[in-house]
Amino acid sequence: METTKLLARYGFKASDLNEFSSDCKFHACELLQRTLYNIGITPYQLENVSEERFAAGLQEASRQVERFGGEYLINPLMGELPLADIDLHMRGICRWLNELGIYTLYSCEGHGRRVPRIGTLMRLTSKQDELLRALAPNEMTIRFRGKEIHLDCGSSIEHLLQFAERIYEVSVDPKGLMLYEAERFKNLLIELLSIPGESNNEGEIRQQILGKMRRPSDDLFMDRDGNVCATIYCGEGPTVLLSAHMDMYQELDMDRKIIQNGTILYSTKGILGADDRAGVAVLVELANKIHRTTFNGTLKLAFTVKEEIGLIGSQKLEPCFLSDVDAAIVVDRRGARDIVTSYSGVVPFCSQEYGMIFEKAGKLAGMEDWKVTAGGSSDAKILAQKFGIPSVNLSAGYKNEHTEREQVDYVCTYQTLKLIESVFHHQLIEVRNKEDFWNMIK
Ligand SMILES: [Zn+2]
Repeated sequence: METTKLLARYGFKASDLNEFSSDCKFHACELLQRTLYNIGITPYQLENVSEERFAAGLQEASRQVERFGGEYLINPLMGELPLADIDLHMRGICRWLNELGIYTLYSCEGHGRRVPRIGTLMRLTSKQDELLRALAPNEMTIRFRGKEIHLDCGSSIEHLLQFAERIYEVSVDPKGLMLYEAERFKNLLIELLSIPGESNNEGEIRQQILGKMRRPSDDLFMDRDGNVCATIYCGEGPTVLLSAHMDMYQELDMDRKIIQNGTILYSTKGILGADDRAGVAVLVELANKIHRTTFNGTLKLAFTVKEEIGLIGSQKLEPCFLSDVDAAIVVDRRGARDIVTSYSGVVPFCSQEYGMIFEKAGKLAGMEDWKVTAGGSSDAKILAQKFGIPSVNLSAGYKNEHTEREQVDYVCTYQTLKLIESVFHHQLIEVRNKEDFWNMIK
């Protein structure tokens, strides 16, 4: 195992090795020095040592160094963390949490009798909550109980070490966080990709969506044509509609498997269905996260039926559901980072100005390459032309849709979600824009 990684799992940094001397005054250095002495190696030989051997040497060293008599005695804001007093599998987690400003008071790995837990000085903020949820390995369930964090990983306590490794990575390079978040998001996407539903046969996917939308929605209903419509109130500002279609081009082959290669998912047989379940996943995830953003306005969501057989569902959306909508965002475009503002450059969905909001949101979120472009037919065309709502259609990360070669890059899909969050977070859509979004093209 790579030295930095091995050390991070147990709460050490590579720089703890640099301080090596016979009279090291740092606790972490002394502990690490003892460990290497017990194994009988120099720091340079660390990369060839098995994790078991390292952990055994460390366990022994923990009994040899000066102990502080329990974590409780240390003020996390002042003193150095008493690593030797912390359970072996919790050391990394505790040290890196403290480095991130989440100060810990005590911890216990549970010793097979109870769930591993950590006590913190303060209650975690929702941002810190979200960060830890994103970093938790899939096999671990993380729960927040007041000032205590419970890390349930069943019988495999090794996941605690993996968790430590991830917190360390993010404390060194915050950009890595997005990949872990995307990894979590992938679970929802795969769940939605596993539900059948070609056009006119949307019953099962509709039930699933209704189930997932019940908790975040203030109002939720199925209209006469089978579209699912939801409303979430978040303040006085503009009403923004998000839309994706729940039907698929063809029925799924139920024997197929979903294969992953890097960050790409594809199907072993028949279509994958990411057109437009990727869009559905973005909407569901956003609905559940919207209260954690600074969005001030009303969010409406439309999951439409029969898009693939002629944009039928969106045409039947109830005018009263759409009457107060200031602007719409459809997530049903192939590829990555396209902001589609017209059908083939001929039928406009909105003004250039509305499209540019999304380029700006991309830049603000560190994604420079979101670009306004012309595209194909989609529900955006109906929302704009039939209902007069300025609309864009955003890339959802899928490719080769309607064929056996269909695939989706779930990191791209996740970045679409980040783009929309950026639009909301920076409050780039305002009520007064509705006319402007049309005027410029007239
Ligand atoms: Zn589609």
